[in-house]
Amino acid sequence: MKKIAVYIDAGHGGIFQGRYYTPPHIGKLYTFLDKKGKEDFTIYEGEVNRKIAGKFAELCEKEGIFARKIYHDYLDTPLLTRCHLANTFFLQDKLQGYTPILLSFHSNAFGNSSKGEGEAPRGWSVWTSKGQTEADKIAQIWAEETKKMFGKKITIREDLSDGDSDFEENFTILVATVMPAVLVENLFFTNREDAKLLLSEDYQNKSALVALNTVQRYARE
Ligand SMILES: [Zn+2]
Repeated sequence: MKKIAVYIDAGHGGIFQGRYYTPPHIGKLYTFLDKKGKEDFTIYEGEVNRKIAGKFAELCEKEGIFARKIYHDYLDTPLLTRCHLANTFFLQDKLQGYTPILLSFHSNAFGNSSKGEGEAPRGWSVWTSKGQTEADKIAQIWAEETKKMFGKKITIREDLSDGDSDFEENFTILVATVMPAVLVENLFFTNREDAKLLLSEDYQNKSALVALNTVQRYARE
């Protein structure tokens, strides 16, 4: 049984007193328009990431899993600062006998527009750095647990070309950190149906629970 330390990342900034702390030029929000062109609702990726990551952190605490948030409650902490923080924690925690891992919560987007009737692509995906690493094991468990939890209620996007479910890309959070790191794109916030799911308490709770199940299974295997 591994003694896991989880570093939790929720990409981008959040909302505080009505202001969205992800800079406008970065976007990470989408306003859905109805057929008449009237504003229907807006989704903020950084806020949804925080909801799910926050619920996951609460579950870890309940279950006695050591977890550290590497993001601010609402500020958009620079990516390299978050990596640096995780690497500093790694050194401390490794010496205490922990096996540190990093889970990064995001939601996907299609296109560059931040307003419209919504884009077609939807679905959940999991990402690791290129090549076979320890992170692939965690990603595979995460994909399996997601399928178990949601079944056909969501689309699971997979890259099976290398024999497992994860997509591989050298995202900074995955390659500038020294512990196994996995990034999840929770659905597409630019898709109307996915956005509605993301904003629902039910999806957020289940998604957080899947992350917990993933960590617990990885600790055992
Ligand atoms: Zn993101």
